[in-house]
Amino acid sequence: MLIVKKFGGSSVADKDRIFNVAKRCIEDYQAGHDVVVVLSAMGKTTDGLIAKAKEVNPRPSKREMDMLLSTGEQVSVAMMAMAMGSLGVPAISLNAFQVAMHTNSQYGNSRLKRIDAERIFTELENRKIVIVTGFQGVNKYDDLTTLGRGGSDTTAVALAAALHADACEIFTDVDGVYTADPRIVPDARKMDEITYDEMLELASLGAKVLHNRSVELAKKYNVQLVVRSSLNRNEGTIVKEDVKMEKMLVSGVAVDKNAARVSLIGLKDEPGIAFSIFNELAKKGINVDMILQSIGRDNTKDISFTVPGTELQNAMDALNAKKENFTAKQITSRENVAKVSVVGAGMATNPGVAAKMFEALYNANINIKMISTSEIRITVLIDEKEADRAMKYIHDIFDLASN
Ligand code: ADP
Ligand code: ASP
Ligand code: MG
Repeated sequence: MLIVKKFGGSSVADKDRIFNVAKRCIEDYQAGHDVVVVLSAMGKTTDGLIAKAKEVNPRPSKREMDMLLSTGEQVSVAMMAMAMGSLGVPAISLNAFQVAMHTNSQYGNSRLKRIDAERIFTELENRKIVIVTGFQGVNKYDDLTTLGRGGSDTTAVALAAALHADACEIFTDVDGVYTADPRIVPDARKMDEITYDEMLELASLGAKVLHNRSVELAKKYNVQLVVRSSLNRNEGTIVKEDVKMEKMLVSGVAVDKNAARVSLIGLKDEPGIAFSIFNELAKKGINVDMILQSIGRDNTKDISFTVPGTELQNAMDALNAKKENFTAKQITSRENVAKVSVVGAGMATNPGVAAKMFEALYNANINIKMISTSEIRITVLIDEKEADRAMKYIHDIFDLASN
């Protein structure tokens, strides 16, 4: 069997954790399997590097940020290879360039385009454990790129697809995928299985246990994932196309605190305005979500939407530069908002889920600022300081707790 095993930052945070991971990988190796390991940077390294960059430049170039951030993963893979070496097992670390992992050129949020499998296969044939840097890639200019925060999961899934791996295991600091973030909702329940579609919604809406693009890739290439703890042997959660259980009305609740709202007030009420606004943002690669347009009155209208908080400054700059084009009287923004979502495949065929979610928010006396829905999710925008409480009330009203 060829097994891809990915370990996140907390799983390799210090010497003891590194040896713990090394030993788990060596077990598979000694059972005769080919083992490819994908690692994140140790502990909070990436956060530390971002803070360091801000000390010298509050708005550093994205290219230089990628140059800096990709160092974190290079430290952990080298350390892991050394740890395995000290345990007498042949291992080799490879960075994105050495593999090579080709991406497009969107620094800070690049997409994997192609992976060369040759070098990895050669090393596996030589009976080595191959340890690959997560999160990073290389573009057509031979520059280092990164896949976005949490992107090591995507590296792992892409490698599993490219290598036609028999298993892809994502090890983290919780036992699997829960009905809500177990750190915020202590009685959240671990799911045995979840569909790609539900997981994709949860991950896109703030459940950072998996990077959303890793789920997208897993679905596309039909890579079955197991999410489990690196610290115990519990079974974990399987992410796959179809689950055995009856489709849950609501399978989980997610919170995204990295949200910001932008409002354009007093726009001309005529064709082409929305196009020119969102085209400006698309050109800058800014993801827009939860779009709301008011009913036109006196030949003007307002448009509000959300962007990731980390993109707010870029969005405001792009819009202010073209303010005249869409005749906005005023452009405002608000950072301390959060998205709270419920996700469930059963929702598509069951009315009343939205009403129930709003009832929970009413019970909690929490005001809703925006609402958006898809077939299998409902999202509301609320004050950030209310987010955790909202999550608990919603989790409760849908009876998702473990007992
Ligand atoms: P890693 O460093 O291993 O990639 P992350 O911190 O990126 O780990 O993701 C794991 C974290 O995701 C957990 O510690 C948990 O707080 C958070 N999380 C958010 N939503 C969920 C959920 N629905 N199920 C499990 N964990 C979740
Ligand atoms: N080290 C990167 C981050 O902190 C990638 C990852 O952890 O997946 O975002
Ligand atoms: Mg992660």
